[in-house]
Amino acid sequence: MIIRARTVVTMDGPPIENGAIALSEDRIVDVAKFNEIKARHTGEVIDLGEQALLPGLINAHCHLDYTCLRAKIPPQRSFTDWIRAINAEKANLSPNGYVASIHDGFAEARRFGTTTIANLTAFPELIPQIHATIRTWWFAELIDIRAPEHAKELVDRAIESFGRARALWGLAPHALFTASKDLYRRCEEIARRQNALLTTHLAESREEMQMFHDASGPLYEFLKSIGRPIGDCGNETPLELFLDLIGSGGSPNRPRAIEVNRPYPSWIVAHLNELTENDFELLEKLNIRFHVVHCPRSHDYFGHGRFEFERLRSLGFNICLGTDSLSSNESLSLFDEMRAFRTQFPSISPEEVLQMATVNPARALRQDNALGKISCAGYADLLALPFTGNDALEEIIAFAGEPWMMMAGEVQHEI
Ligand SMILES: [Zn+2]
Repeated sequence: MIIRARTVVTMDGPPIENGAIALSEDRIVDVAKFNEIKARHTGEVIDLGEQALLPGLINAHCHLDYTCLRAKIPPQRSFTDWIRAINAEKANLSPNGYVASIHDGFAEARRFGTTTIANLTAFPELIPQIHATIRTWWFAELIDIRAPEHAKELVDRAIESFGRARALWGLAPHALFTASKDLYRRCEEIARRQNALLTTHLAESREEMQMFHDASGPLYEFLKSIGRPIGDCGNETPLELFLDLIGSGGSPNRPRAIEVNRPYPSWIVAHLNELTENDFELLEKLNIRFHVVHCPRSHDYFGHGRFEFERLRSLGFNICLGTDSLSSNESLSLFDEMRAFRTQFPSISPEEVLQMATVNPARALRQDNALGKISCAGYADLLALPFTGNDALEEIIAFAGEPWMMMAGEVQHEI
């Protein structure tokens, strides 16, 4: 099959005017000018006309569990109040309600051109009941605040659920304030052994910084009141604590012995809003780089401190976009997310913004050659949207409808 469009935005080189791709089953086998593709390949031609063809979008951080909480929680005075509010909402949800919520989330993400998603779920045991309609990396979101002695069993149970569902998977110790050191370490151990992905929430709110750095503030008081041990509070920033925990060999100030040639699991870190000057110095000296997910609209909803995009980028961190959940966002559209990012960072080029929803998250998921760009041997996960002939990248970011979509070589939305 051949697909032709007025321009092909490959994200693997400059756009190709009057471009086309050739497909075989679920893969792209060639991409070039239409006349070259026609000369080299035979088969049915789908001519999309005055459209821009681009890779499907990849959401690097989402919680489809909470799709049903759209517009349920107005912005709160504090992050801690929001945790209380979402806990109150969650108390009313049943397993069937979560399954329906996740299915609704898939439908919405797909409608807006997301073809791959990194989805955290607090209920890995429900995955065998879910029919995922886009490419999904399931991350078990693990919290052991009430039973840290069972960290190992918690991880093992999640992995069993993935196995039953034959899912693409990773592990997500939720955050430093809800997951024990043992839980983080167990997740890293498994990730290293099974080559699995890891993600976590880190340094998201001022209250998290206050809790760990100063042993004070609403989050500290709340967690202390429910019995969380507070021995790790009052000394270090969240980043320092995290670097002490992970297998990077420790932070530069506190090196830990590491085995030679031990592969470092690479973390996908969500948020990273609260960093001190000393944290930036640590990041600069660090011998690894992790992936960072920024969620522009959820960030606005919470009123977090400025996301230091330029500084993190110049240090070589791979920055991706995510929607977070609808308990702190209005839609699961990455087009909306890209536009919100451009409002926050107007000097960043549309090409770089689109990279954060295509090639960058593909790299975070270790799919550099398979997803996020239109290139030979990659999956035929594609979008097309109207193109007037001006600036394809600008028009893509401005797009507010439902794109034509192909998933794994199959047309999903007719134009
Ligand atoms: Zn999250």
